[in-house]
Amino acid sequence: MFVSGPPTILHADLDAFFASVEQRDDGRLLGLPVIVGGGVVLACSYEAKARGVRSGMGGRKARELCPDAIVVSPHFEAYVEASREVAAIFKRTAPVVERVSIDEAYLDVRGLEAICGTAALRRTVRGEVGLPISVGVASTKALAKIASGLAKPDGLLVVAPEEELAFLHPLPVERLWGVGPATARRLHAAGLKTVGDIARTGEEALMALLGPHGGRHFHAVAHNRVVRPVVTGRRRRSIGSQRALGMPGKRPDELDPVLAGLADRVTRRMRRAGHAGRTVVLRLRFDDFTRATRSRTLPRPTCATARVLATLRALLADARPVIASRTLTLVGVTVTNLETAFGQLVLPLHGADGAALDAALDEIRDRYGTHAVTRAALLDSRDTLATFLAPGE
Ligand SMILES: [Mg+2]
Repeated sequence: MFVSGPPTILHADLDAFFASVEQRDDGRLLGLPVIVGGGVVLACSYEAKARGVRSGMGGRKARELCPDAIVVSPHFEAYVEASREVAAIFKRTAPVVERVSIDEAYLDVRGLEAICGTAALRRTVRGEVGLPISVGVASTKALAKIASGLAKPDGLLVVAPEEELAFLHPLPVERLWGVGPATARRLHAAGLKTVGDIARTGEEALMALLGPHGGRHFHAVAHNRVVRPVVTGRRRRSIGSQRALGMPGKRPDELDPVLAGLADRVTRRMRRAGHAGRTVVLRLRFDDFTRATRSRTLPRPTCATARVLATLRALLADARPVIASRTLTLVGVTVTNLETAFGQLVLPLHGADGAALDAALDEIRDRYGTHAVTRAALLDSRDTLATFLAPGE
């Protein structure tokens, strides 16, 4: 029997972050339905959420639901500045801080009084940065994250160790991080609606349903047995992903959707982890098991999907003579020469890298799962689990 430790992990998540910054910086917006982003909704205030507006929604649908919404353009510098200030407060609060994205982090407050620290954290963020933040406290990261989600807006939820399973099991399966729409459909089809239903299902049956990795993983999650430490400032050398093309393999002219999918996945992981990289590597394997590698180093680090994809296309064009008429069985993409680039990440938002789109897509997927939106170039992407297991979570 797994015994939980004390609740010393906080998941701190700013509420409706972009929209809250807009309301903070323009007092006239306080208490009003605010939508950030004129095309896709990047963020919306709780007043807009109450009317059914959601991040990732098309602007037209949002305005139909909420005709009196005030639509503002994003001010990314202000968001980065606020994010930095909040990060500094996190550092003062806990010895170990793992930033997950621009508006959330895990804090390990071992050795401190968790509840005390949490109250102080929320007060300080409100007082010094002027933003509402919700905090979940539990013995594991997974539970702390669920708790902060349920605490919103502007709330605190502490899950006592003896209450963890009672807290977890009634929740709908969609609350588990990594359960996107596709996994949820599969679980529902098998009659599994709550986390408790998953917990009561045998590991083997889950593996049959979700694949060996997913089955094992969600079995452990449902029993709250996934204990991943809060890790500060991990230094990674590279982030990569690969895709087996199966047999009979693919012709080079069939590769573009595969490259687009890999570029999307890798850069999304980079952005979540706060990395930008300069060197893009394309790895190819053929049906006779020979390999080819091509790489290019860019003048500036990037985490923009469009930039990485354009580089991959150029590398593939370079490799054409080597590929000749052979058949590809595997494509791998790695970005190396990484820099930890929190803050710098936002610079390309002003360029033509499509980074505002990247940010919008990330935001949508963070909320609705990897499958919520897909680039037109992506055909059959089953990366919910891959994303779930990506670093930075
Ligand atoms: Mg947030």
